[in-house]
Amino acid sequence: MAPRKIITVPNETLKRKARKVTSFGPELQTLIDDMVETMRVAPGVGLAAPQIDVPLRVIVIEYGEVPEDKEDDEDYEVVPDLYTIVNPEIKKPSSETLLGIEGCLSIPGIVAEVERAESVTVVGQTRHGQEMKLKVSGWLARIFQHEVDHLDGVLFTDKAVRVFRLDEEGEIVE
Ligand code: ZN
Repeated sequence: MAPRKIITVPNETLKRKARKVTSFGPELQTLIDDMVETMRVAPGVGLAAPQIDVPLRVIVIEYGEVPEDKEDDEDYEVVPDLYTIVNPEIKKPSSETLLGIEGCLSIPGIVAEVERAESVTVVGQTRHGQEMKLKVSGWLARIFQHEVDHLDGVLFTDKAVRVFRLDEEGEIVE
């Protein structure tokens, strides 16, 4: 595994529609391992292959939440789940939407408020080509929608309700 370089705007790959994966051989396995490594080094909660200049429909997400009954437990350590989805599609977006502040490893220096479906069903394939389906909600649903958008050349700034600039410490500049 080796982390790869994350490309940033205005790199044209970020604006292109990525190709469907049809081969699940060693090259794809290396790509996925490298994407996980790249996401962890960044660090980020999600990464789409176009962000490392590979125009293929692959996303990785690593995210965990503190369960409600552990919210008061300061020592509770979140164990994040790793999701790898090949050829993911967003289905059945809930009519309920939520506004939330997102950032993107490919657009440093800003965050933006984006409206997303509260829950979605994600269908796609595992890294070995098996069909898979996942129902997700809340922040995880937001991450999935953000990453799948990358595969269609859509950036969160295209959908932003409001954009905020960050200072050098990563704080929002009012
Ligand atoms: Zn992004």
